[in-house]
Amino acid sequence: MKGAAYEALKIETLAARLGDVAALRDVLGDPKGWRVREVGDGNLNLVFIVESDKSGLVVKQALPYVRLVGESWPLPLKRSFFEYHTLIRQAARDPGRVPEVLHFDEAQSVIVMEFLTPHLILRRALIQGRILPKIGKDLGLFVARTLFRGSDLAMEARQRKADLALFADNVELCDITENLVFSDPYFEAELNAHTSPELDPIVAELRADRDMKVTAQRMKHLFATKAETLVHGDLHTGSIMVTDDDTRVIDPEFAFYGPMAFDVGMLFANFWMAFFSQDGHEADGERDLMRTFLLDTVEECWSVFCAEFSRLWHTERTGILYQRSLFEDRGDALGAEQALDEVLHDIWVDLLGFAGVEVHRRILGLAHNADFETIEDRATRAACETKALKFGRHIAVNRAAVQGLSQVRALAERLQ
Ligand code: ADP
Ligand code: MG
Ligand code: MG
Ligand code: MG
Repeated sequence: MKGAAYEALKIETLAARLGDVAALRDVLGDPKGWRVREVGDGNLNLVFIVESDKSGLVVKQALPYVRLVGESWPLPLKRSFFEYHTLIRQAARDPGRVPEVLHFDEAQSVIVMEFLTPHLILRRALIQGRILPKIGKDLGLFVARTLFRGSDLAMEARQRKADLALFADNVELCDITENLVFSDPYFEAELNAHTSPELDPIVAELRADRDMKVTAQRMKHLFATKAETLVHGDLHTGSIMVTDDDTRVIDPEFAFYGPMAFDVGMLFANFWMAFFSQDGHEADGERDLMRTFLLDTVEECWSVFCAEFSRLWHTERTGILYQRSLFEDRGDALGAEQALDEVLHDIWVDLLGFAGVEVHRRILGLAHNADFETIEDRATRAACETKALKFGRHIAVNRAAVQGLSQVRALAERLQ
């Protein structure tokens, strides 16, 4: 495909077009033996699984539009460039947690990566009621390491500023988040949808809720301006693939320099939505253990995040912020502890705001999630969604007053 103009891959053309790329040939062997299929569950891009008798690979290609909507919604191909650059940075910052990239073709917007198998999308696993004991720890480490190591706490200033500039061009994907997450849910935007008429009253109430609207805009303000680290940008349970003993993070095309709390808040929101959806998935047996597991997972993820972030604070604080020369090197170790506590506290407060807004947009906005959507009984679905909406509103508006996760847990259990 060297030098050729961009062209979308097809199942039938993939082997002919990629057959001479060494990275694929080395893994898969002669392209005559390749078997190609398309994965249908992403929203934006083409994803192919290519297998041979030797092995398998994944080929992901951006389209000049949103796959799910079609050509009427254009979206730049360069999202693939941002995804590639993020995958290699995340692989360095938390080795083993993202699929290995074997090849990138910028002109074709193609990323060839490790085929994760027998991995399942985490959201699907949670809907099935699978208990995955490692995810809290694995994801806590992932967010701590990627967020800390991509920031001014750790990076050399020139490199950090170069990356800020590089990712600042991911404008169109940020724009999707800025509109679909932070604004559209709070007015009658054209693309919105909700379970209607069941939710109509609470939706009207939220759209008239001045405190909630201001909160959502405060969070958008942080999202758009607090460029503190390279965030994944789309860290929901559909961007995580799991087996019982492996956890992988995929699909960082929304990456940009933003607030640390955004990834953590989106992740926790998706566990809390999984929690509130469990009532709708009890046909094959009650889900009390699953509910406990989901709330435990958030607690473990947060405590691992704080512990790992603190460890990195003490061992890798080599950037331009809170320099050791001001604190430890002057015999003021406690000063560094005070600053760490304040940084973690800010992340805590902000993550609650981001989480509340994420819950709302998944129920009121364009992009709904399967946790609720797969609940066939409308009354049950609406009841689950109502609890989640109230929960989201409470944690977002009261984020500065919520004392800790035990308080959030008590709130979730009381609503449930
Ligand atoms: P999109 O950006 O369109 O959402 P994703 O990167 O999320 O695309 O991929 C869509 C789907 O393809 C995923 O939900 C998953 O099922 C599958 N997939 C993506 N990457 C891999 C991989 N490395 N290994 C196995 N399956 C993958
Ligand atoms: Mg995806
Ligand atoms: Mg994506
Ligand atoms: Mg019940």
